[in-house]
Amino acid sequence: MQIKDIQDDIDEELISHDALERRIVDVAGAVSRDYEGKNPLLIAVLKGAANVMVTFSQAMSIPLEIDYMSLSSYGSGTESSGKITVREDLTTDVAGRHVLIVEDIVDSGYTLNWLVGELNRRGAASVEIFAMLEKPARRKYHVDVKYRGFEIPDKFVVGYGLDYNEYYRNLNSIAVLKPSVYIEGECA
Ligand code: 5GP
Ligand code: MG
Ligand code: MG
Repeated sequence: MQIKDIQDDIDEELISHDALERRIVDVAGAVSRDYEGKNPLLIAVLKGAANVMVTFSQAMSIPLEIDYMSLSSYGSGTESSGKITVREDLTTDVAGRHVLIVEDIVDSGYTLNWLVGELNRRGAASVEIFAMLEKPARRKYHVDVKYRGFEIPDKFVVGYGLDYNEYYRNLNSIAVLKPSVYIEGECA
């Protein structure tokens, strides 16, 4: 019997595993210098940013805390819009903390625009963003991304935490799927 391999569903690799991790480690070095003595709180939104959080935080050796949040946004189509609700909240009080949001991708910016506002309402001392990927062509909401990994074209990507129908999060690079995957339905 042939074993299904998710690599077979890839049309084009946009960012290799090595290039991705080299860049994440570089940014983590710069962030470590900027946050020295500040004991930052790194926050990732599940599930997409879980992978980048691991690589990014392990490349930092300054004292820091890590927390996660699960959000859901209801809206139409493939774009996030509408009301954001907190599905699983942080366990950390952010008041007075220097917060760095670790994000997988900034698309319209809707989610991050809301999250930065929410963390400021909770009294964070500062809120900055590291986004592994950014799609500048799609930006609709204002977000200041202080640290970024890569800018990518307006294509739907998967891998390194990013999913299509909950699959492909375990792909270790950033890639575009074959059109047949979307036509035939979920990864099977
Ligand atoms: P935004 O609120 O910026 O429009 O959307 C952010 C979220 O949408 C990301 O955290 C991610 O979960 C999802 N998203 C946006 N673009 C892509 C993409 O190209 N691929 C995948 N898999 N998810 C995306
Ligand atoms: Mg995300
Ligand atoms: Mg998703």
